[in-house]
Amino acid sequence: MKDQVKIAVRPLVEYAFRSGDLDSGFRTGTALTEGTKAHQQVQKSYGEADQKEVYLAAEIPFGDLLFVIEGRCDGLLVMEDGSVMIDEIKSSSGDIPQVVEESYPVHWAQAKCYAYMYAREHEVKRMKVQLTYVQVITGEQQRFQQEADLAELEAFVNEIVEQYAPYAQMLRDHQMARDKSISELDFPFASYRDGQRKLAGAVYKVISEGVHLFAKAPTGIGKTISTTFPAVKAMGEGRLERIFYLTAKTITRTAAEDTFSLLQVKGLHLHVVTITAKEKICPQDQVSCRKEDCPFADGYYDRINGAVLDILANETLIGRKKIVEYAYKHRVCPFEFSLDLAYAADVVICDYNYIFDPRVSLKRIFAESKSRTALLIDEAHNLVDRAREMYSASLNKGDFLSLQREYKGLNAEVHQAAKAVNGFFIQLRKDAMDRKELVSRQAPAQLVESVEHFILAAEQELSLRQDGVQGQLLLQTYFAAQSFVRISKLYDERFVTYAEISSREVSIKLFCLDPSHLLREMGKGYCSHIYFSATLTPMSYYRDMLGAREQDYTLSLPSPFHREQLEVQIKPLSTRYHDREGTKLQVAELLRQMMEGHRGNYLFFFPSYAYMNLVYEAFTEVFANQAELRILLQRGDMTEEEREGFLAAFEADHEGTLAGFAVMGGIFSEGIDLVGDRLTGVAIIGVGLPQIGLERNIIRDYFHAGGKNGFDYAYVYPGMNKVLQAGGRLIRTETDHGRLLLIDDRYLQPHYAGLLPEEWR
Ligand code: SF4
Repeated sequence: MKDQVKIAVRPLVEYAFRSGDLDSGFRTGTALTEGTKAHQQVQKSYGEADQKEVYLAAEIPFGDLLFVIEGRCDGLLVMEDGSVMIDEIKSSSGDIPQVVEESYPVHWAQAKCYAYMYAREHEVKRMKVQLTYVQVITGEQQRFQQEADLAELEAFVNEIVEQYAPYAQMLRDHQMARDKSISELDFPFASYRDGQRKLAGAVYKVISEGVHLFAKAPTGIGKTISTTFPAVKAMGEGRLERIFYLTAKTITRTAAEDTFSLLQVKGLHLHVVTITAKEKICPQDQVSCRKEDCPFADGYYDRINGAVLDILANETLIGRKKIVEYAYKHRVCPFEFSLDLAYAADVVICDYNYIFDPRVSLKRIFAESKSRTALLIDEAHNLVDRAREMYSASLNKGDFLSLQREYKGLNAEVHQAAKAVNGFFIQLRKDAMDRKELVSRQAPAQLVESVEHFILAAEQELSLRQDGVQGQLLLQTYFAAQSFVRISKLYDERFVTYAEISSREVSIKLFCLDPSHLLREMGKGYCSHIYFSATLTPMSYYRDMLGAREQDYTLSLPSPFHREQLEVQIKPLSTRYHDREGTKLQVAELLRQMMEGHRGNYLFFFPSYAYMNLVYEAFTEVFANQAELRILLQRGDMTEEEREGFLAAFEADHEGTLAGFAVMGGIFSEGIDLVGDRLTGVAIIGVGLPQIGLERNIIRDYFHAGGKNGFDYAYVYPGMNKVLQAGGRLIRTETDHGRLLLIDDRYLQPHYAGLLPEEWR
């Protein structure tokens, strides 16, 4: 019996018909919801006998494989003479009249595949196929038709399958090797640590049941191995075809890569692909992805299939270095290459946004594949604010005013469209009178309409544009405008619109207050979401904000470390904003006392740079003459080298004493491991509350109105999370010891004390 390869029509034709440059694809730029609406609009015009979303399938043997091709055609139209025509609808935010019959061979290929499948099943000798292009904003349509007989269609489809077959065969061979290696794979350590077995068991269970898990897993549990190992085992049993390991930071991505590297040493054979941000992996001096500017974009689609086949046939751990190496070899853009690889990989390690952000999420993961994909979401506490960013969008008046001026006399449409948006901002400033802020629960419909017109005008200009500075501002504003319109389509009662007005600028933001609903929507269809972090405290808040459903599980594991490893002191001193100047010397003195007689390395965490600098000055005065003390200060603009230098200073065999001043929620307060004597003590000054401001106050009021404790949701929980993260730097292994100093009188209040881990109390 031949091995079956199931594949949907769309990825099949996309594979076979890829050609040309990176920017030569069909520019849709539209969100899925807009595309769906445009499709439905066309389908509404169908006659009574016509059918929509018709499932079609065909089996095609090739070599040792049996291809099972399936898909749903958009329309099956019955002609006056009784014949049948396949209708394939394509939506775009671009310029429809510019599309000609042969613009997109891949669209014809898709329609012809459906025609073949229908003709074969119904024994029809000749078929008509139609492409319908629809503009999502204006509804404008353009149609093209062709005819072919069954023999022609069959030859055409066979040719497509023949092109795809080597890739399918390679994946098939890999899958067999993969499953065998998984079945032989043992847990890579001699035994499970405390909590590890519980976490691994819970992950396995939720994947089996297709539900989600919210796991509080303290440092030392070994979260990465405890989540990846059971997921890999589930893959070996056929429950999963892909795992996404999602992180907020590069450093946690490295930890995941290390874990898969360890499993590989133990015999695991998996394709693990890491996606690195475009700006970081791009080898060009400037990120300009047009074929004229970049040789990696020029002809990308002509070479990408060969590149994918080559790297997958020869590599398993496919991180940044490997991707760049093969990208040079095949002259393909390394970033786009990594995205193409992600669709073929068993494991993808990447940022949250490739799944949850509607602007950059991987669009070619289809429903069936999703239902066999698990999401492992590391350091999940970060997702609340990250999701708010993903689902919010803003625009500035200044950009449109500049474009209005720049395109005067150059392009009347762009000039007029930018002027209309600028006009909206002018009116907003007038309406505001002297107010600096305006907050509304309504989406700015009139602005969205003007921005949509701007997008159309900008898109036409950009498709013609020559390189230059003018083009850069237009391009940036075009992307911002697209993002704004896309977010406006998601706007509901969980959003507010707010404007900030000054004499120099007016900005408007569609601000998502409660991202839980959209996280659920974007994550819909995936088999399991496993949210884990050392600091999901309080769990009810994170379940609420991350969109937990009733059937989803919660797991809270105790710290595997012993109480004696940590010496905790609380000093009840006010660190509130208005007391800071008055208590800065006392804080400096407490820090001094903490180090007195205990030589070693210390980190002092503050809620803001301003406060950190204030105490730093006081502290350096006190310690001006202490030669054996070295003091380091975090800066907001540190280069990668400077950051590394900061951490490298924390040596285990440091002669004197080292004091590092840093901010909570920053690069040194999360995701870093200073094991053993590299870190002797941590002091946390304040309870980490975010600075009082407009956005936080809007969040507070929103949740308060919904019957929750708005101040906790906006300030206390996010703040205390930073405290727990910063304090968590101290004890990293069973042999670590350390001193923790908490400076703030609120730590003695039951409400705050209740949020501290058991071992800190
Ligand atoms: S290599 Fe850089 S500039 Fe070229 S296409 Fe890729 S990201 Fe764009």
